Amino acid sequence: MSKSHFIHTLFRPEVLALSAYHVANAKGFIKLDAMENPYTWPLSLKDQWLKCLKECEINRYPDPQAHTLSSTLKLRNQLPESVDILLGNGSDEIIQLLLMALPPDSHVLSTTPSFVMYKQISDSLGLHYHGVSLREDNFDLDLPAMLQAIEQFNPSVIFLAYPNNPTGNLFDEKAIEHIISEAKGLVIIDEAYEPFANKASFMHKVMHNVLVMRTVSKLGLAGLRLGYIVGENEIIAQLHKIRLPYNINVLTQASVQFALENHSVFEEQTNAICIERTNMFNTLNALDGICAYESAANFILFKVPQDNASQIFESLKSQGVLIKNMSPQGGLLRDCLRVTVGAPEENQAFLNALKIALNH
Ligand SMILES: *Cc1c(COP(=O)(O)O)cnc(C)c1O
Repeated sequence: MSKSHFIHTLFRPEVLALSAYHVANAKGFIKLDAMENPYTWPLSLKDQWLKCLKECEINRYPDPQAHTLSSTLKLRNQLPESVDILLGNGSDEIIQLLLMALPPDSHVLSTTPSFVMYKQISDSLGLHYHGVSLREDNFDLDLPAMLQAIEQFNPSVIFLAYPNNPTGNLFDEKAIEHIISEAKGLVIIDEAYEPFANKASFMHKVMHNVLVMRTVSKLGLAGLRLGYIVGENEIIAQLHKIRLPYNINVLTQASVQFALENHSVFEEQTNAICIERTNMFNTLNALDGICAYESAANFILFKVPQDNASQIFESLKSQGVLIKNMSPQGGLLRDCLRVTVGAPEENQAFLNALKIALNH
């Protein structure tokens, strides 16, 4: 049997058809491609953190329920008794858990564009994924089209990123509520960018079929891999059954706990990022040929002159600045690039490089 025949008989067709999620090699670049927080911690805080890590028993399995961290997150989010929380190895893992729990022929609904992992994981599991196009004028939900898709496919899960990645906007709250009231399955409000969204949130509206998912990644702890989802006890209980028992390691549990106890450091950093976001938005829009879209997240999507996205992206790269070229995804993202808001000197380097790229 040839190797390729062997592989083709071994794996599910949907797995064979997938392409691996591509992450660009960022070594040596000013890295503005992945919505990371550019800031680290003051040295004194780092020392305290290392002391706390010293106490970790890495010879022991972690607490499978992550009791301490779970209670801290419940407290911080002022969650009522009727809801529970499930932690994941990043919210990516939670998306996977949710979708793994569905029957084989289930339908999954989101918007186009949106966070690519919704489709990637749906496809890997052989589920039927549908992305409803956002409105061309403002990237908001196309409510009639969403309601039509709900009626047609009866999706088991609807993902709404709030704010949306890669467009950066908050969808109309009333439209989301309308979708919630029509949905027969779960509606997952993905609040990965909540720290930058000026308190816009559905956390206090978690009930019945509404779940809210968050992550500490964009806040400034992307390396630790911790996401969480909040929903009614009965729903979260089902997800706990298919979660691997030790999905959150000892070091992550201790480090996130420590970070949350010192939360003020993030407040300063996210405030600085939001101020930089405004500066960058204004500077981008003042450039000839650039249209930047308003963002409630820590990145900005912007449109460049027609058919220039790849050339500008490559020019920035050759000048040592890595952002994300969204144009290959086509549709509403045609001619669009996405830049993460970094530290002031990184943003300045990006803007300088962009000016040079535009003049070519
Ligand atoms: C980055 C991102 C995530 C993934 O977060 P992790 O916790 O790092 O896995 C989830 N949803 C959206 C919309 C994102 O942009």
